[in-house]
Amino acid sequence: MSRRRLDSRSGAPSGLLSVIQTAISTEPVESVYDMTGELGRGKFAVVKRCVDKATGKVFAAKFLRKRRRGRDCRAEVIHEMAVLEMARSNPRVVNLHAAYETDHDIILVLEYAAGGEIFDHCVSDEMLAEVQITRLIRQTLEGVHQLHQNNLVHLDLKPQNILLTSLSPPGDIKIVDFGLARRLGAGGELREILGTPEYVAPEILNYEPITTATDLWSVGVISYMLVTGESPFAGDDKQETYLNVSQVNVDYSREAFSRVSELAVDFIRTLLVKTPEDRPSAAECLSHPWLWQQFCLSPEPPSSRPVRERSCGTKWAAPTEDPEDKENFLESPHSQAKRFRYDEETLSAADGDV
Ligand code: ADP
Ligand code: MG
Repeated sequence: MSRRRLDSRSGAPSGLLSVIQTAISTEPVESVYDMTGELGRGKFAVVKRCVDKATGKVFAAKFLRKRRRGRDCRAEVIHEMAVLEMARSNPRVVNLHAAYETDHDIILVLEYAAGGEIFDHCVSDEMLAEVQITRLIRQTLEGVHQLHQNNLVHLDLKPQNILLTSLSPPGDIKIVDFGLARRLGAGGELREILGTPEYVAPEILNYEPITTATDLWSVGVISYMLVTGESPFAGDDKQETYLNVSQVNVDYSREAFSRVSELAVDFIRTLLVKTPEDRPSAAECLSHPWLWQQFCLSPEPPSSRPVRERSCGTKWAAPTEDPEDKENFLESPHSQAKRFRYDEETLSAADGDV
């Protein structure tokens, strides 16, 4: 596929917000906060845990580089701040507390999500109980619904960008990383190449218009990962991953979905569909019966449960081995477990080729 620009007319990313309310201080951030270790990093950002020297309160400081690939990207950072400000009343979005600027960086001081990424729960041997997964998906949908009501699309929803307020027991979710988020309807159609290969929706690969439905695809991917511990589209290389996405090549086999309810499969199936218009909205998803299913809670602590077992279901017990009982399960051509790619690669227009 050939190199494309974000916007064919101006070359500038469309849908960027430029008005912010938060004052950007030029005082050294280290004079106000003690930096106490790294929480995560991406291509252009490092996130550090920090403690307010005056109050002892813990925050997360996201250091965003202003120059990227030899280009001034300050406007993109301001946009990320503006989106966070627009989402201030959204309890499922991390709160922006303060901002600082140095010659190299803009530093966003964010509400600290102490429980880390839900990604850790996707790759852990001890998977979350289904009742916890449905709670986290409900909260994610609530957050996404509120964003969409404000005409905001996140466009980079993935298990690394959904954090938890506490680890054990799992707290509430906080959506982070609004670097790729866009305001819809702010002049022209949005057809950008964005996102991370495994999580990218088919319409992005096909350079078709981006809508709120793009985020719902991601919710489907996240749900799949929490439920199965596998990444639905990850191939051995980028090309295979893109092929899997564009063909919606998903493994719904009994093997992948052992010990989760059939309603989980139904929920994911409604989201991982190629045509964006056929996906339910966040509000519609919130009424799916899977998310309101009554599970009986395991009396045992998770650590004593067998690995990759969950749901002590009575009504929604694990599927039996009865070959007739295949209602929601298809045999998949790729029954071998797909593993995650840890070397995250984020696509951008500057990166070009897909
Ligand atoms: P990038 O744009 O580089 O992906 P993110 O905003 O996603 O940056 O932050 C990178 C990582 O840092 C996250 O995946 C998460 O692990 C950690 N992180 C980000 N924000 C917070 C926060 N508010 N609290 C705790 N950890 C955070
Ligand atoms: Mg991120």
